[in-house]
Amino acid sequence: MIRIETTQIGEDGLAVDGQAPGELLDLANDPVARADGPIEYALTVEPAGGELIVRGTVQAPVRLRCSRCAQFFSTTVRVSSFLHAYDWSEHPEYLDVTADVREDLVLEIPGFPLCDDACQGLCPRCGQNWNDGPCACTPPGDVLSPWEALDGLTAAPGRTPPEGGAGRKRT
Ligand SMILES: [Zn+2]
Ligand SMILES: [Zn+2]
Repeated sequence: MIRIETTQIGEDGLAVDGQAPGELLDLANDPVARADGPIEYALTVEPAGGELIVRGTVQAPVRLRCSRCAQFFSTTVRVSSFLHAYDWSEHPEYLDVTADVREDLVLEIPGFPLCDDACQGLCPRCGQNWNDGPCACTPPGDVLSPWEALDGLTAAPGRTPPEGGAGRKRT
């Protein structure tokens, strides 16, 4: 839990830094994202009237599944401007910001993660990871050129044009 002791808040506010278990991201059942280490937070709490303004940065290492090649890769999701306000009277002893930290971090996980902008993806026919090199089917460059793929058909029996886009399928 990421708890702020609200009794410690003075007129100048309070700074709270620390780490929290990555499991708090609640990604155990997520097919494309996994926690990969502790959440780090650096927050300041400022009293403003009857409210507590909490702002700062939170980040967490995660492993994401590339939407092209289906391999997991390591990255960091970061919220550089965490900003939430809470009613001070509802938190006389402590303020638990875990749910907001989790929500903001999970929103930063890309919908179509890529291990690299230049990821070559998988061969839609044999499943070979083209980042490891071309397969025996069709060189990656030919996928965008149906004419070359057709030429390939006559030149090498067994070569057929790829069925479009199968390499980017999310399962
Ligand atoms: Zn990839
Ligand atoms: Zn192939």
